[in-house]
Formats: sequence, C-alpha cells, structure tokens
Amino acid sequence: MSLDGPDHESLRNLRRDLHRHPEPGWREFYTTARLVDELERRNLDELHVGPEVLAEDRRGVPDDAELDEWRERAVAAGARRDVVDRLDGGHTGAVAVLRRGDGPTVGLRVDIDALPITESDEASHRPAAEGFRSENEGYMHACGHDAHATVGVGVLDAVAASDFAGTLKVFFQPSEETIAGGEPMSESGHLDDVEYLLALHVGLDHPTGEVVAGVDGFLAVSHFRAEFSGETAHAGGHPERGRNAVQAMATAIQNLYAVPRHHDGATRVNAGLVGGGTASNIVPEEAFIEGEVRGETTELMEYMDDHAGRILRSAAEMHDCEVEVEYQGRAPGGESDAALVDVVSSVAADTSGIDSILERDSLGGSEDATFLMRRVQEQGGLASYVCVGTDHPGGHHTPTFDVDEETIRIGIDVLSETIERIGREQP
Ligand SMILES: [Zn+2]
Repeated sequence: MSLDGPDHESLRNLRRDLHRHPEPGWREFYTTARLVDELERRNLDELHVGPEVLAEDRRGVPDDAELDEWRERAVAAGARRDVVDRLDGGHTGAVAVLRRGDGPTVGLRVDIDALPITESDEASHRPAAEGFRSENEGYMHACGHDAHATVGVGVLDAVAASDFAGTLKVFFQPSEETIAGGEPMSESGHLDDVEYLLALHVGLDHPTGEVVAGVDGFLAVSHFRAEFSGETAHAGGHPERGRNAVQAMATAIQNLYAVPRHHDGATRVNAGLVGGGTASNIVPEEAFIEGEVRGETTELMEYMDDHAGRILRSAAEMHDCEVEVEYQGRAPGGESDAALVDVVSSVAADTSGIDSILERDSLGGSEDATFLMRRVQEQGGLASYVCVGTDHPGGHHTPTFDVDEETIRIGIDVLSETIERIGREQP
C-alpha cells in the first residue's frame, strides 16, 4: 500500500477510463474489473468481489443474453477475464477493507453504474474534446458515478497514508440508477459491523467549492413492471371472443393517477413506459406498464404501493384479463444524523478548495444509499449523505453532464479527513 497518499494524476486517468466505459446496473463488468485491478495493487487487508458483496435476492437482473453481451464487451475493452469470471450472473460491485488497528469501523459508499443516455459529441463537451467520451454508444456516466468510484479509491489511499485508527470499508455499489443494488448490498453482511457510514454524491446543482454536510429529503420509491395478458381475437369478426389487455392497461393508468393525496406528506406516481398490442385489427393480448410510486416517507411510499397494486389487479379483473406485477427496485426514505453532519461540516471548513458549506439540503429525489444508511442506523450507528459540489455544464442525466475534476481531490480530502476524525473522536 502506498503511504504517499493519493496520486491525483493516476486517479484522474482512472476516472476518465471509467467514463469511457459506462455500464448500466448489474452490467458493470468492465467497471468492477478495472476497480478490482486498481485495488489489488494496493495490498488491502480484504477485497470482496461480486457475489461476496450481495445478498442472494436481487431485483431487475437482465437476462443471460444481455449479461453475456456486456460481459464480452467488457473483456474486448480490456477487462481482466479472471475478474469478470467472478461476476457471474451480473454480480457486480466490490467492498475494499483497510484495517488500521483499534478504533471504529467506518464505511464509505460510492456507486459505480451509468445511464442509458447517448453522450454529447459536441466540441464544447470536455469528454468529447479530450478523447474520453463514452465508447459504449447509448450509455453514459451522466450522474458522476465515475467520479464517485474514483473518490472511493482515493479515500483508501489517503486514509492508508494517515494516522487513522480503526477499520475503513469502501462499498463500490452497483445498480444505483435502477435502485436495485442498495438493498442486496445492505444485506450482504459487510455492513453489520459498520458504526459510521458516509455516502457520497457530486454535483446535484451545487458548484465546485460547495459542500452539503448532510443531505435529507430522500423520496422513498418502488419501481414495478405490470404485465397484462388477455386473449387475442379478430377485432372486426369476433371482438367478443377477445380479452383486451390494452383496455386493462389503460384503465390501470387512469386510476393510478387517481390515488388520493395523503395528509402526511408528498406522494408521487408515474406510468413512465407503457405498451401493448400487435395490430389495429387484433384485440390485444399483451400489454405492460413500467411505473413507480414515491413518498416523502417509506410509509407514504407504501401507501401508494398498496393502492397501485390493488388498481393493477382490479383493472385486469374489470376487463377479464390477468396481471403479473414484478417489483424491480426500491429504496426507503432516509435522514442524515446530526452528530455526523457536524463532523463533516467542521472538517469541510478546514479543507482547501471549499468556500461554501451547507449543513443540510433536500435531495427531492430517490437514492438507494438509504438502504445502507438505514441498516447502520438500525444497528445504533450514524450515517450521513454528503454532497460535494461540482460545476456541471449540463444537468444530471443529460448528454452534456460532466464533472469538474477538481471535485475529485476535494471529495477525497473532505471524506478522508472526516474518516480520520471519526476514528479520533467517535462522535
Ligand atoms: Zn447519481
């Protein structure tokens, strides 16, 4: 293990390499292999990979053909075959452990997946201008998870070179965008002795130099796919013989949006991707809805989820169809703990490059880091979700999103310093 601390040039190269190879949830073969390769060279005390870092139950895993395609693409791009072989079935991700004597066990959670977005090729978009634009056409690191993974590696370097006393575990979590990776990672056992957990996000409309010590306001969320099935018939000759799955789907959509509001707080519902049928003269036999419900609290999300399930079943019943509902990913609400927020903000005040500190801000979206945070909090530990600002030319989840790479240095400094202070003070 290097005792010189982070080598920022090599970390920047790592970030750019990850940026060139964006992979969506459960398909982070290249990403995991590249990270494992980096981490193995650091002589960590433990490095757990793939199936070792995920509980058995996983949602939203693509079929074998899709997994094979991404696996082969990763190997063709130079991923180590021996590592890729360990990620069988799309078990991606890793947990790196550094043991430095007696002291608390601190976790850092970073996510590693990308989005199905085609990256800008405009000259004004730095990854395009400087040769590290996505090589997986149609996919892109449009939320900064390439920077998150890099900060995770850099924090290990910084903490290894420090006087930290305790254990550091860095969780490289797959499948955040599909909110499918947090739950199985939180149940993997690796979190069971974690007393303090930090989670990281860059940007979120905060500029370079600004840090939010504790993000709150996560919406609890649940994604579902409902498949309606009926019976096909000639629409002109014998419409009465058909059982119309599209009618069931349409009835369900209308009523999903009609769930009563709740006096306890905000709720959301969306039928975001729908389809069905085969031709204008055939009574449609199949139809589907991919949708989601959210709530300001886990209870409010569950309220929406209950209603949605009943509506989907009743709509099918109304049109003499069947429905199967598959839950694809979910996350509870979450809150950052004041005692940890205090440590982060006091460290941030002494970190070079940080000129604005917000104690708290609301995310107003969803994040499955909340599974890991909640796990630690239920064990009596503390958690905080830290936002390290970055100047991003395009918004999150858009083709011109990019991170200001100075943020990587700032993120490593503020998080590694916070971890050292937790070791000393055990707040
Ligand atoms: Zn993100």
